Amino acid sequence: MEDRVYNFSAGPSQMPLEVLKKAQEEMLCYPGAGCSVMEMSHRSDAFDSIIDGAEECLRDIMKIPDDYAVLFMQGGATTQFSMVAMNLAKQGDTMCYIQTGQFSTKAKEEGDRWGNAVYVASSKDGNYSYIPEVTKLPEDAKFLHMTGNNTIYGTTFYKVPEHGDIPLAADWSSAILGRWIDVKDYDLIYAGAQKNMGPAGLAVVIMKKKLLELTVDPVVPIMLRYKVAADNRSMYNTPPTFSIYMAKLMFEWVKGHGGVEAMEEMNKEKAALLYDFIDGSKLYKNPVKPCDRSIMNVTFTLPTEEDTKAFIKLCEERGIINIKGHRSVGGCRASIYNGMPEEGVRHLVETMKEFELTR
Ligand SMILES: *Cc1c(COP(=O)(O)O)cnc(C)c1O
Repeated sequence: MEDRVYNFSAGPSQMPLEVLKKAQEEMLCYPGAGCSVMEMSHRSDAFDSIIDGAEECLRDIMKIPDDYAVLFMQGGATTQFSMVAMNLAKQGDTMCYIQTGQFSTKAKEEGDRWGNAVYVASSKDGNYSYIPEVTKLPEDAKFLHMTGNNTIYGTTFYKVPEHGDIPLAADWSSAILGRWIDVKDYDLIYAGAQKNMGPAGLAVVIMKKKLLELTVDPVVPIMLRYKVAADNRSMYNTPPTFSIYMAKLMFEWVKGHGGVEAMEEMNKEKAALLYDFIDGSKLYKNPVKPCDRSIMNVTFTLPTEEDTKAFIKLCEERGIINIKGHRSVGGCRASIYNGMPEEGVRHLVETMKEFELTR
């Protein structure tokens, strides 16, 4: 246990010790089941209560209205890039995307394979350091896609973009449960679990039930149809049972610690510790437009590549790992999801101060 470090990875990320301990307690024998969750049939009563319990708790903490379906999917958030296009549009249809970084670009690339995907706003000109404004949408667009929190660049939407009558689909992978997201503002939300909801292997989709009635092109594979997932309670085939169980423990942990609102307060405080320190420092810089700064992923740069390397090395000596920025942008990044305690962030700030004194 003393070996555990502060893990600032963008994902898979550090999880609350309480959650890991609970999983450890139930690891060999899930209460009443006579076996572990990993060995359990997904058609058993025990697993039924796990998946139903996960959905119920998520509905509770995110206040998900009854006219929205909750789906537990495989293939990570990346599979959703294509599922959104294939389920909300027909081949050749127009689909709109807001380009705010690498994930939104990848999402649009899937749209390109399916039909007429267009960017309606982009911050590529500023190396994705801000959130662009959407001014006009093509009337025939089948949906508008946005990446709510940009994990690599450390930017986030604080305002829901104007989208008229066009359905809004949002990738909230790196901020779901870390910040209050009003489900009613969206037609579809998806998120990979490994940032803020548990281990990898699971993606959660929250979507208006009305969208399940759209006619889906016959070429779309069975496993890539939302309706199939919804009609089969996310168990058309064997779901990622252990990841769903862990997500349930994470949802219960969030609920037990005051809910998403309390998480947001805690995350704002954690982020402020870092941003305030960076803004007052001569060595570290944050490239993001202040009003668009993420409270989940805090990016910062040092003057030279050599400084960055030396800083990362000191971090490792101080029990801080995965602080290196994404390979496409360089610099450093601290991902401070729900599982990162404030003391971890304080320890990082102390280490940043210590390093600054050596320069
Ligand atoms: C991590 C991430 C993804 C990719 O998730 P996978 O589960 O690896 O497919 C997509 N979008 C965002 C915003 C992410 O943070």
